[in-house]
Amino acid sequence: LLEIRNVKKYYPVKKVRNGEDISVKAVDQIDLTVNQGEIVGLVGESGCGKSTLGKTILKLHDITGGQILFHGEDITNYTEKQMRPLREKIQIIFQDPYASLNPKKKVVQSVMTPLDVSGKYTKEEKLKKVIDILNEVGLSEKFLEKYPHEMSGGQRQRVVIARALINDPELVICDEPVSALDVSVRSQVLNLLKDLQKERNLTYIFISHDLSVVEYLCDRVAVMYLGRIMELADKKQLYGNPLHPYTRALLSAIPVPDIHAKKDEIILQGEVPSPLNPPKGCLFSTRCAYATERCHKEAPKLVELTDENGAKRSVSCFLYH
Ligand code: SF4
Ligand code: MG
Repeated sequence: LLEIRNVKKYYPVKKVRNGEDISVKAVDQIDLTVNQGEIVGLVGESGCGKSTLGKTILKLHDITGGQILFHGEDITNYTEKQMRPLREKIQIIFQDPYASLNPKKKVVQSVMTPLDVSGKYTKEEKLKKVIDILNEVGLSEKFLEKYPHEMSGGQRQRVVIARALINDPELVICDEPVSALDVSVRSQVLNLLKDLQKERNLTYIFISHDLSVVEYLCDRVAVMYLGRIMELADKKQLYGNPLHPYTRALLSAIPVPDIHAKKDEIILQGEVPSPLNPPKGCLFSTRCAYATERCHKEAPKLVELTDENGAKRSVSCFLYH
């Protein structure tokens, strides 16, 4: 459904170092293929470029380099006019439902907006579609006349989901869709997203810093660090046998429910380096316990490996090349 080839998004920064312009490589050399009906997770600490990659796929900003293909069609240089029919097919759900809903609009108006834009339906058809989609996300007709401030966070995010789905998209980018919600309603909204995906055979790119949420929802997972993919694997492979030292450290830090179960937590040394001044060589080299001299000079590529069962996975680390 979606193919991303060597995609880059750099932000120029005014400062000049040694006469050279500095740019922040928010997203760098990303290759990723997303199949129809699949849920692909993008995980990493804040600032790793996962949200920027989501916006790049939606073409919400210019792209510095690379190609984006949707249904095999290169949409990289599409104008906004060419993008318009695709806007129905690719939707995004943001973290904060309160910020993504217009406070002055009733639910019926907000959810109907994408239908107004498409211009395909009569007034009665539009209202029926709004009621149907609200029911599908678990909200009754009595929500039609409500304003955002009259609802809970979970209800607001259901409205946002309804609005994203009303034009039957194929690909939905979910950017931390439950992070702003109370812990008590997170699993309800996650289950809703999971059910909708199954019923409608949707494709999700699911962005999150929470590895447990990603494990619950996703089929495949890409671990990002400073704008690049460090490891990409099926969920079972990634969680059962993480290869990259960064993935291992992230997974070891997930709290275990059983307090008697002992887990050896790998404490990451230092902080995430400034993207303005990233490490030379491997981006993870300043925090990696396995770093060798080579790692400080040369950057490993994301290389595809085949495991003993014939399954493919990719990792960007010299330990496996
Ligand atoms: Fe660590 Fe070297 Fe692998 Fe980078 S390439 S993750 S520094 S061992
Ligand atoms: Mg983000």
